[in-house]
Amino acid sequence: MHRLQGIAVSPGICICEALVIENDKGVRIPQRFITADGVQDEIDFCQEAFHKVADEIAQNRDTITKQLGKQYGAIFSAHLQMVGDPELKKKVEHFIRDKRYSAAYAVSRAMRQFAKVFEGLDDAYLAERVQDIFDIESRLLNKLLGTKFEYLSSLNQEAVVFAHNLTPSETANLDRGHVRGFVTEVGGLGGHTSIIAEALQIPAVVAAGHFLEKVQSGDTVIVDGNSGQVYLCPDEETLAQYETLLEEEKSRASELELLSDLPAETLDGTNIELRANIEFPEELTCCLENGAQGVGLYRTEFLYLTRSTEPDEEAHYQAYAQVAEAFGNQPVTIRTLDMGADKINTSFEDLEESNPFLGVRSIRLSLRDLPPFRTQIRAILRASVKGNLQVMFPLISTLREFRQAKMIVADIMEDLEEEGIPFNRDIPIGIMVEVPSAVIMLDRFVKEVDFISIGTNDLIQYTMAVDRTNKEVADLYQPSNPAVLRLIESSIVHANAGGILSTLCGQMSGSPAYTMLLLGLGLRSFSVAPASIPEIKKTCRQVTIKQCQTIAKKVMTLEGTGEINSYLREQYRKVTEVAEET
Ligand code: PEP
Ligand code: MG
Repeated sequence: MHRLQGIAVSPGICICEALVIENDKGVRIPQRFITADGVQDEIDFCQEAFHKVADEIAQNRDTITKQLGKQYGAIFSAHLQMVGDPELKKKVEHFIRDKRYSAAYAVSRAMRQFAKVFEGLDDAYLAERVQDIFDIESRLLNKLLGTKFEYLSSLNQEAVVFAHNLTPSETANLDRGHVRGFVTEVGGLGGHTSIIAEALQIPAVVAAGHFLEKVQSGDTVIVDGNSGQVYLCPDEETLAQYETLLEEEKSRASELELLSDLPAETLDGTNIELRANIEFPEELTCCLENGAQGVGLYRTEFLYLTRSTEPDEEAHYQAYAQVAEAFGNQPVTIRTLDMGADKINTSFEDLEESNPFLGVRSIRLSLRDLPPFRTQIRAILRASVKGNLQVMFPLISTLREFRQAKMIVADIMEDLEEEGIPFNRDIPIGIMVEVPSAVIMLDRFVKEVDFISIGTNDLIQYTMAVDRTNKEVADLYQPSNPAVLRLIESSIVHANAGGILSTLCGQMSGSPAYTMLLLGLGLRSFSVAPASIPEIKKTCRQVTIKQCQTIAKKVMTLEGTGEINSYLREQYRKVTEVAEET
């Protein structure tokens, strides 16, 4: 058994088989099984691949020998020997015949076993020959699977994906019916890959260190998305322990289900608004089941992830109209495109930026590349008559940006009016507060915006100067850092003074450990992943505002994140214990 410790980014536990993606080599090997009557065909298919690869290598050998001489051609002779090795073929045949593995999986499994033997040898030269094995494996898989191994979107059995890294689009396109969790070697707490895992409601752990050599597709694994622990080939005792935890999780989930129709009201009767963060319209069901009071953040850039071409006005319109209709009078906040940095890169001007997080991302990109922005605003305005839509601009760092963006909205309103297309002229327009400059200038902003939403994922990143996806500085990515808390407090105070609503939609709003603190700082509206709504509601229903204010007051006197976290954990534990006793 191997135990890995990473960063827990999406809660839950799963015990399942691993599916290892070696995306640094571009090779993805799904574990597939074949039926008994398919065995011979699979073996024939495999032999054909071996023949083709051998021919290919022989050709390479001849060409290189002619061009560079015999000594270079000899490299390929060694490869040729490996492909022709009867032991290798026997092993592959055994996997297909006796284990019923698909040809591709059998090849990959056999090659990995050979590679392990080489790696284990105390001989640097031979250990390096592992690369030759990978090279041959890759050639064989190319013949068996074609050059594109895009199997992740259609798996035929449940699996936990293990990869060095997953891009947001790879994550978004995972086969939702079968992927039960994922674990990556790199990544950070606030990356978008994590956000999608939450949306898919699967446990996920990132920054788990080097593990690709330790895990193989088909191994049993445990992913604990609550603690960030991952077990490869767990022993009996660990398995039994996690099976019990899994049962407990299930009964906690059914307990929370009972809350879905109850209001998110504190013990002293203060009403708290709980909205949902969504990325895909498919999350609507989960929002409604969990009693979301509208959508506080619709991350529309994810519309780009699940298609190969840019969404047109109609595609935007359909997506927004569907969500607006589903929520009726409840507000649905459409955030305009937040592209760039670790999200989807557009080909706009083919920008080469050394610091994309500080570059042309988000509203900055929208204001430079107007056509897609205008298309989106038109679609939002058209859909605004279908429900209670609001528009929100991301990453606003100056008043000028907000005014420019608002002018574009006004301009499109004129167009629609001329064309006789109905829309809501009074559609509320707000901003994400996720850059310190916006917090500092908030007393001015509140005179012009209809609402704000505090985006702590970025606010932490820009306050602490920590790339939210970088595992090396993940310890500095601190939601409860006093500097971050002061900015949150200041945002809420300014919004209240300006008579506008402030919502908090960063990941920290979905963590019950922070709920009391945020309530105490004056927050009355939370926007969280739909699956987190019941837990936050439960916490709200167990506390009084006065109690939360006392907690917040104390926290704001503390100087270190560690102290703050232990104090908050302690307070949360007390509240849950009292609630369980009553
Ligand atoms: C945030 O920055 O807190 C936020 C909610 O936006 P995103 O995570 O999409 O950048
Ligand atoms: Mg953000």
